Amino acid sequence: MSETGSSPLMQFSNKPKAVMVSGRGSWLWDEQGRSYLDFVQGWAVNSLGHSPGVVQRALQEQAALLINASPGYHNMPSHRFARELTKAAGMDRAFLCSTGAEANEGAIKLARKWGGLHKNGAFEIITLQGSFHGRTLATMAASAKPNFAERFPPITPGFVHVPHGDLAAIEKAITPRTVAVMLEPIQGEAGVVTLPAGFLRALRELTTSHNMLLIADEIQTGMGRTGRLFACEHESVTPDIMTVAKGIGAGVPLAALLARAAVSCFAAGDQGGTYTAHPLMCAVGSAVLHTIDQPAFLEHVTRMGAHLRKGLGELSQRYSLGSVSGAGLLLALSMPQPIAAEVTDAAFDRGLLINAARPDRLRFMPALNITLDEIDRMLTVLDSALGCTLRK
Ligand SMILES: *Cc1c(COP(=O)(O)O)cnc(C)c1O
Repeated sequence: MSETGSSPLMQFSNKPKAVMVSGRGSWLWDEQGRSYLDFVQGWAVNSLGHSPGVVQRALQEQAALLINASPGYHNMPSHRFARELTKAAGMDRAFLCSTGAEANEGAIKLARKWGGLHKNGAFEIITLQGSFHGRTLATMAASAKPNFAERFPPITPGFVHVPHGDLAAIEKAITPRTVAVMLEPIQGEAGVVTLPAGFLRALRELTTSHNMLLIADEIQTGMGRTGRLFACEHESVTPDIMTVAKGIGAGVPLAALLARAAVSCFAAGDQGGTYTAHPLMCAVGSAVLHTIDQPAFLEHVTRMGAHLRKGLGELSQRYSLGSVSGAGLLLALSMPQPIAAEVTDAAFDRGLLINAARPDRLRFMPALNITLDEIDRMLTVLDSALGCTLRK
């Protein structure tokens, strides 16, 4: 713990003093030996909990065989994973990379390239208020968050922001320059903000009728998080471009840009990267996909999500809080006052990790293989944390 005070590591946020040293399933331990029930899970990343056996085995087996061949040569795990992932997603082509921002940056490039080839040079991308698409210069410009891209002027051009969940506003923003609409099926970083029922399907029709691309950022909602493999499936929508990250690697850096064949127009030299199609990460990707893309597994997510939602609803009633939003195991609880950070601190003191997505909203993103008992335990601790905060 003494190490962290004088550490040269750049810090961008206030963290609790605890130093995490080990994890197993839904539990984390710090260097003092304190245990924490983890409903943050690497920011909706550790889809199978901490240090799952399938990931350990995939890492060990692949590491013994080949860690990295260079993107200049073919490797087996990347071709296998690309085949499995595109099939599961109903897409045709995959670019495999390391982070969500990298996948989204690639999606923006692919849409611009397609616009240049097939839509008279159209390049503009419409995004929704509150959206979060990453922390590179272009993905920050795509993100319609107040005081975000403005921090690093000049802002990358080519993005138009419209109100969230407003189809008419999107239609009004379309010009001959517009190439795509890019959106999250559920906005995670904004505090788990859902779209009206039928919106995605109507947007699919609108974009098709204008010969525009639909880009779904499934980085937080994909890989089983909402009870379907991808959240677009809830409305039977297939986008033209889909990005996936976070849960896809269950804790290791892995991300994917997926595209329909007609849109997949990168030419030699257009795209790449040192760690693209990395065999070690792709081996993990296959192991994770095999685990998650099973009817029984996804059904478990739906059941646990319903149980968590019910429990949060009961706490909301008891303490006169707000609504529960989200789907599957990506849920948020609204507070009538900006007390989310205080509740999060009180929970931390009681050995529970939750996230204050907004000053007045708690977010829950547990491991997808969480158990009923663990959810009940979380609800008991949250009850105590809420009671303590609201009595103050
Ligand atoms: C986390 C996230 C990103 C960025 O992913 P990184 O891996 O942090 O670059 C982009 N879009 C959404 C919806 C996210 O939740």
